[in-house]
Amino acid sequence: MPKRKFRQFHRPKGMHDILPDEWPYWRKIYKTLSKLSEDYGFSRIDTPILEETDLYLRSTGEGTDIVEKQMYNLKTKGGDYLTLRPEGTPGIVRAYIENGMIGMSQPVKLYYVGPFFRYEAPQHGRYREFHQWGLEAIGGSSPVLDAQIIFVFYIFLKELGIKNLSIQINSIGCKECRPGYRRALVAYYKYKKAKLCSDCRRRLGINPLRLLDCKNPSCQNLAREAPQVLDYLCDDCKSHFKNVLEFLDELELPYFLNPHLVRGLDYYTKTVFEILPEEGKDLRQSALAAGGRFDNLVEFLGGKPTPAVGGALGIERVISLMKTRNIRAEKGKKNQIFFAQLGDLAKKKSLKIIEKLRKSGFSVISALSKDSIKSQLKIANKYEVDFSLILGHKEALEEKIIIRDMNTGIQEVVKLNDLAKKLRQKMRRRKRV
Ligand code: ATP
Ligand code: MG
Repeated sequence: MPKRKFRQFHRPKGMHDILPDEWPYWRKIYKTLSKLSEDYGFSRIDTPILEETDLYLRSTGEGTDIVEKQMYNLKTKGGDYLTLRPEGTPGIVRAYIENGMIGMSQPVKLYYVGPFFRYEAPQHGRYREFHQWGLEAIGGSSPVLDAQIIFVFYIFLKELGIKNLSIQINSIGCKECRPGYRRALVAYYKYKKAKLCSDCRRRLGINPLRLLDCKNPSCQNLAREAPQVLDYLCDDCKSHFKNVLEFLDELELPYFLNPHLVRGLDYYTKTVFEILPEEGKDLRQSALAAGGRFDNLVEFLGGKPTPAVGGALGIERVISLMKTRNIRAEKGKKNQIFFAQLGDLAKKKSLKIIEKLRKSGFSVISALSKDSIKSQLKIANKYEVDFSLILGHKEALEEKIIIRDMNTGIQEVVKLNDLAKKLRQKMRRRKRV
């Protein structure tokens, strides 16, 4: 077949363009999350989008959905096996160890935000490229850290105007008590294999806890009757969990004990949690944020034994919930004005005047490639600015400019040198009305 000269390209399946219309949501979310993270003592960290494949095999764990099905793997020209990061924690722990953060005052509290990649079946709330905001507190075993991380995610959602949230929480024990629970689960499922989905049948030997988390209805029925992990916790895990709950009580957070919450990853110990919208607590892919404690992971990846806790929030799911609940993100910027010009001389002077205004603190929208004043003011209307500036040939000659009040249509001619001052006065007066 002859090659076509022109062809149209499409974005990869399950991946999205974030268009300008969407940005008010993202801007608000990034602003809120960085302020909250910093206010609560978490410092920003960025790690590479690619890490050694082995890092995820060892930490996220074989038998997890991520490692079994969802990783984007590649082999470099140099023969290295790398993976597009499917989650944040392994990379953060690798960075903590590699950069000697054990030498810093502990716990080291870090936050990250950026894209993650999982080869999933794309559907609503589940994409192949998505964005997470994560919090980690590495080097602390106190239950107050578990509670603080849950609290910061909760407050974040509240600050965005998202109410009616449900926090689900559980403890899945530690190296000491988990093996006993694991045995109890294997014994329970031993004669029920026929009713399990094929994934669970296979996982029973690798990671039986995952069976509790399976979304298949028949597996969910079996899970309801399964032994509950809380009955198998050692004294240390029991008291840790009790303490976490006491902190949550003190914060008056609406949490529910969910004995089937186990989370998909291998490295969790003790506390695991998810935050969901009330209406979605029984639905798939509705968790907004999730996380837990990972007391063995640092050691497992070659560091000293170091307890840690963290979690991650899915930004696309938060935006989608804001939209269904009709929560608007900010529209338009403060101090936004429109600049219109008419005639060659005016157009020539435009860029310089706009830059001067920008330096004085204004955010200037314009349509400089247009010549007709009518079509420029139409755009000004679309942006819903309070004031537009009009520079005609006469004004350009006289070093003057027209300020037009877009609500009343009243215009005033002012000297270019007084423009910033006059605009500020007018904006102040408008705010007072
Ligand atoms: P789920 O059970 O929904 O698959 P998960 O356990 O795989 O979630 P985590 O690894 O804990 O999710 O990620 C934390 C958060 O990131 C989730 O609560 C969710 O909001 C978001 N998230 C996870 N996977 C995706 C995805 N494929 N697309 C969009 N958001 C996602
Ligand atoms: Mg998943």
